[in-house]
Amino acid sequence: MNTFTLLDTIALALAAIHFGTPLIYYHYIKNRYLNKPWDIKINSDYKPMITIIVPTYNEAKLIEKKLDNIYEQNYPRNRLEIIVVDSASTDGTPKLVKKWAEKHPDINLNLVVEDERRGKAYALNLALKYATGKIVVVTDADSLWPDRETLRKAVKWFSDSSIGAVSCLKKPVGSEVRGVEKSYRRYYNVLRVAESKAFATPIFHGELAVFRRNLLEKLGGFPKDIGADDSYTATRIALMGYRAIVPEDLWAEELVPSKSYFWWRIRRAQHLIQSFMKVIMLKAKPSKEFKIVFGIEAFLHLLNPWFLFIALFLLNMSLLVMNSLTAILLISLGLMLLSIEQYRTWITTQLILMVASVRNMLSKELAWSKVQK
Ligand code: GDP
Ligand code: MN
Repeated sequence: MNTFTLLDTIALALAAIHFGTPLIYYHYIKNRYLNKPWDIKINSDYKPMITIIVPTYNEAKLIEKKLDNIYEQNYPRNRLEIIVVDSASTDGTPKLVKKWAEKHPDINLNLVVEDERRGKAYALNLALKYATGKIVVVTDADSLWPDRETLRKAVKWFSDSSIGAVSCLKKPVGSEVRGVEKSYRRYYNVLRVAESKAFATPIFHGELAVFRRNLLEKLGGFPKDIGADDSYTATRIALMGYRAIVPEDLWAEELVPSKSYFWWRIRRAQHLIQSFMKVIMLKAKPSKEFKIVFGIEAFLHLLNPWFLFIALFLLNMSLLVMNSLTAILLISLGLMLLSIEQYRTWITTQLILMVASVRNMLSKELAWSKVQK
């Protein structure tokens, strides 16, 4: 039996990078930016014409509640329009939307129906053709805004010309919200706000993603060849020199699926990976602050999981081939730590990212199957 092998040394170095990078980044960005003032001049009464786009594919169960939720918002009705864009739903979603519109004649609702499903981004781009608002709000049908002031609180940021896009923090809801999902969110929400205060965050959420319409037009709409339309567009806007932010007081609730939770997260990780890859291909030159944020987030999503994978592989080799005592101890420690929730959450996320990058080679999941919520 060996006590310590070269393989162990390499594995330890890789593990140090794997766990060290996110830990250092998290504490660095949190301490440096989280409690900083925003340095933005906002007019809380700013209420421009806005267009709210709700994309739907088989949302019969949720669409009326979603529209009610928008209707309850404290925002002048004569300054907003809703566009529901449906892509060949087979569960009668458009009919329900029409009925809802008839019952609420005091709000301007436009239903656009595609006769073939080509994915969310296609649908959003079609809706954009009809949009007249200065500000465009995209919101998924399976999400709700718990606060009546959500729209006003999101839109007011655009009174400052430096802001190009705004998104929200997410609160998972549903009958079966797992501990994993909750602790994952806690950690990620801190990052989103701190990154936003540094300059911009490259990760946006479809529950509430708000953009200046003229910037969307400059970009030619949402990207049709990748899944993360919101994150990619926010990143492009940050690269144009505008801020893409998540404020600390904007929340959306998202229904977490009861079944297929892991496939759901894998598909979303696939989309995010696609967004990072597509931005990297642009070879853009971001501002200094955004360069750090984007660089590290891209590293954490694309490469960092594989450091863990290789470290584990080497430890197993060291154990099996060289009978290393250190390898046994390290592997046992890694397994024992799984009883700690935060650690388990982290490892789960790494597995999801790895499976997602492999799956991306097989299918981009641009028109994904619906999961039960
Ligand atoms: P997730 O939030 O990433 O898990 O994806 P969802 O399945 O919740 O979809 C986000 C939103 O896009 C929901 O409102 C869906 O109804 C809608 N959606 C998904 N695919 C399509 C599509 O092909 N066309 C349209 N119009 N909407 C879609
Ligand atoms: Mn969703």
